[in-house]
Amino acid sequence: MALQELEPSLRRNSHSGECSDFSPRQFPIATSAIENADRYSWFNNMTWVLYVSYVPKDVLSLQKHLGDDESAWPKQCLIEVPPEIRADIDLVVKAAGLAWTNPQISRSIVGGVNAEAMKRWFIDVALWSGSWRAERRNSPAVTKTKRSIRVPIRQTQLQELFNQDGWQCRYCGIPIGGNREHFKKFARQIEMPELIEGRSDEARHGIYLIMMASYDHVVSHSRGGTDGTGNLVTACWPCQFGKYKFELLELGLEDPRLRKPENSGNWKGLCGN
Ligand SMILES: [Zn+2]
Repeated sequence: MALQELEPSLRRNSHSGECSDFSPRQFPIATSAIENADRYSWFNNMTWVLYVSYVPKDVLSLQKHLGDDESAWPKQCLIEVPPEIRADIDLVVKAAGLAWTNPQISRSIVGGVNAEAMKRWFIDVALWSGSWRAERRNSPAVTKTKRSIRVPIRQTQLQELFNQDGWQCRYCGIPIGGNREHFKKFARQIEMPELIEGRSDEARHGIYLIMMASYDHVVSHSRGGTDGTGNLVTACWPCQFGKYKFELLELGLEDPRLRKPENSGNWKGLCGN
């Protein structure tokens, strides 16, 4: 199946400038901050919004999963996917393998996944992982260089990239499901429309948030990185949006292009392509 357009929010993101420099995820965070501000109307709203926007929702989890000691942080990805979530991702992979032969069983497996735990981990922990690391890392600032000229990334180019990377995130290694069209097709096949519902992170399904396919510019445009395949790697949403605007050096991450993609067997996304 040919890759269709990427998720609309990513497309907007990608067209608005730097793919990893602007995160549409800031919007729901800011919205919830405003909702909180309403509850604390005695407080100066503006100060509250600014304050909440820069405080992770789940500091304890970030402290537990990353902590302040950068020597203990993973070098290949921002934050390790918790084992229970990784086990549920493997169940989705299993369900995808059954979707076209036994959709009922596939649906039942997907229904048994703890999607709420995935969602909470994505929104409250993974999205903050880059900021958390950059704030605590004692590294020299990466100077901006001349911005490179953007070149539209073709769908065939993305298809090749995902194939080359074995449909796995090159940072954390989780299997990616595909783009919105793949999710739609899979949701239709197993009759689970809730998989693709929602326009905000809070309203979206946990599997969608964790397994949506994306790509990351290893060197950002603001540092001269190009749109060529040599500068792109397949990334899951938690890694791509968690990385946010930061460079590898600022996050203490190794260059994912220096290691080969792991063997992913026959996995080619939710629709098997
Ligand atoms: Zn990842």
